[in-house]
Amino acid sequence: MKFRAPGRVNLIGEHTDYNDGFVLPVAIEMQTIATATPAPAMQFTSTSNPPAGWEAYVLGVEKQLRRRAVPIPNLAIEFSSTLPLGAGLSSSAAFEVSAALAFIAAAGFELPAMEVAKLCQQAEIETVGLGCGIMDQFISLHGRADHAILLDCRSLAWRPVPIPEGITLVIADTGVKHALASSEYNTRRKECEEAAAALGVKSLRDAIQDGGYKRARHIVSENARVLAFVEALAANDRKGLGELMAASHESLRVDYEVSCPELDAMVAAAQQCPGLIGARMTGGGFGGSTINLVETGEASAFAAKLAQLYPGATIHITRAASGAGRQNP
Ligand code: ADP
Ligand code: MG
Repeated sequence: MKFRAPGRVNLIGEHTDYNDGFVLPVAIEMQTIATATPAPAMQFTSTSNPPAGWEAYVLGVEKQLRRRAVPIPNLAIEFSSTLPLGAGLSSSAAFEVSAALAFIAAAGFELPAMEVAKLCQQAEIETVGLGCGIMDQFISLHGRADHAILLDCRSLAWRPVPIPEGITLVIADTGVKHALASSEYNTRRKECEEAAAALGVKSLRDAIQDGGYKRARHIVSENARVLAFVEALAANDRKGLGELMAASHESLRVDYEVSCPELDAMVAAAQQCPGLIGARMTGGGFGGSTINLVETGEASAFAAKLAQLYPGATIHITRAASGAGRQNP
C-alpha cells in the first residue's frame, strides 16, 4: 500500500499557529510517499539520504498511535520524497503524515484527519523536541488543489480559499540552514507564552497592540494581515496581496526577528524580477525558503531572473495541491 502526503508553503500567517491565531497555508505538489508491506519486524528505510536520527519521526508517530490503541502490525515501510529536507517546506510533516496513514490503514483503523494532524504534531513535539504548532500537519492532510486553507488555530475551524486564476507559486530556497533554527524556534514559543502571561491573556492572539511588546505586535498584526489577505484573494487585489506580504516579511524581520540576511536578500531580489505580485519569507525562518506569488505568464522568466540575481537558489514552480491520502499504484 502506498500513501502520499504533501509538503506545504505558507502564504501568510507566520508563527501565529502556536499563538492561537490564523494561518493560510497551501499544500504543494512536492510530496513524500510511504510504501508499506507486511514484514516479520518493523523496518524503515528512506531513499532521501536523511541525517542520522530520522527514524525518531516515524517512531514518534507509532508511539502516538499506540497510545490511542491503534493495533499496528509489523511493517516494512520505504519512504521516498520529492521534497527537499530542511528547506522550510515541511518535509517533516509530510514524512509524519505519510507514516501515520500507512500505520492506520495497516491496522484496519480509521481516524478523522484532524486527529491524525494532532497526533503527528504531538509526535514532533514529544519525540523530536520541536514545539511546533498544528499548521504543517494540518495542511498536509487538508490541502486542496488551487486553494489555500484558512485555519483558525484556536477553534480549528477552517475553510478553503480559492487562489485567483493566473497566479503561480514560486518557492525560492536559499539553501541556508542555520543550526540555531530549532532552538530559536522553541525560544520564540516560550517568549510568547511569557508575554501572554505578563499581559494576563491566554495567548498572544488576545494581546492588545502595544509598541513595547515586539513579539506580541507581530502576532497581533500578522493575524490581521491573514484576514486582510483572504479578502484580497477574494477581490483578486494583486496590489493588496503584495503589500500584505511585504508587511509580513518586515514584521518577521524587525519585530519577531526570525528572518536572516539570505531571506532578506532573496525577497529584495524578487522585487527586480518580472511578474512579481508579492514575496516574503515562509515557514519558521532562520534560513529556508521564500514564497513568491507570480503572474503565471511570467513564472519562468521570474524564476530565471531570480536564479541569476541569487546564485545558488533552488527554485520550485508549483501550485496548490490536494491533501494526503491513498496513492493508487
Ligand atoms: P522541514 O520540515 O522544513 O523540511 P525539518 O528540520 O523540520 O525541516 O525536517 C527535516 C527532517 O525530517 C530531516 O532531517 C529528517 O530527519 C526528517 N525527514 C523528512 N523527510 C524525510 C524522508 N523522506 N526520509 C527520512 N527522513 C525524513
Ligand atoms: Mg519541519
